[in-house]
Amino acid sequence: MLSVESLSCRYGGVVALRQISLTIAAGEFVALIGANGAGKTTLLRAISGLTPPYEGRVIFNGQPIERASCAQIVRAGIAHCPEERKIWPHITVQEHLRLGAFGRKDTKEVARDIDRVYAIFPKVLERRKQVCGTLSGGEQQMVAIGRALMSRPKLLMLDEPNLGLAPLVVEQVIDVIRAIHRDGTSILMVEQSAALALPHADRAFVLENGSIAKQGRARDLLQDPDVKRAYLGEE
Ligand code: ATP
Repeated sequence: MLSVESLSCRYGGVVALRQISLTIAAGEFVALIGANGAGKTTLLRAISGLTPPYEGRVIFNGQPIERASCAQIVRAGIAHCPEERKIWPHITVQEHLRLGAFGRKDTKEVARDIDRVYAIFPKVLERRKQVCGTLSGGEQQMVAIGRALMSRPKLLMLDEPNLGLAPLVVEQVIDVIRAIHRDGTSILMVEQSAALALPHADRAFVLENGSIAKQGRARDLLQDPDVKRAYLGEE
């Protein structure tokens, strides 16, 4: 479904990604782990058209998208739930969901999808008329995921969805992501915490200094001594 081929990204003179290659099959749950500054966010931004690559290719369902606009990439079926949620504090929950459907003309279907998001997140329904600045961090994360779902993605990319959330809320967010995956959406989840990501993923990639240091089945990486030492805090 997604194939990233020898992708490199730079910010001026700073090389953020070096010759990254990875694939995601339809229906897969893939985790991307790595320390601060490893390049995880840059990889998601390159796939979604926010940071055009310096070199390399991104192929989605057979189409090259590395030079496509963000809007074209969303229409192709990739949604990006960004780091720090990027929620607008003065806009209501309902308006966020409508913004997620930007560009869709099928008004009735959009209304149905909003109801579907409310069914997944009953708390979001309760708060639908509230401006998002008044919501808790966990509720804002639910709105950010709901907004991403409004484009009906085939691939949902999530950048550290659990950052700053209380353990109980993290569990709820993970449950929701698993449910979205079970419904047939492929997932690419960035996480600094391997302990949070690996138990739920099919496969995982470890990014270090802009390169892929390790890759494999998530359950194998959970047993990998280097991963245990560096990302699971085990000796
Ligand atoms: P984090 O977990 O802190 O978000 P990350 O793994 O997502 O880290 P990136 O944010 O992709 O890493 O950053 C990769 C590298 O690119 C880092 O060295 C970072 O300092 C650099 N970088 C990121 N954004 C910019 C920018 N806008 N301008 C210059 N350098 C940047």
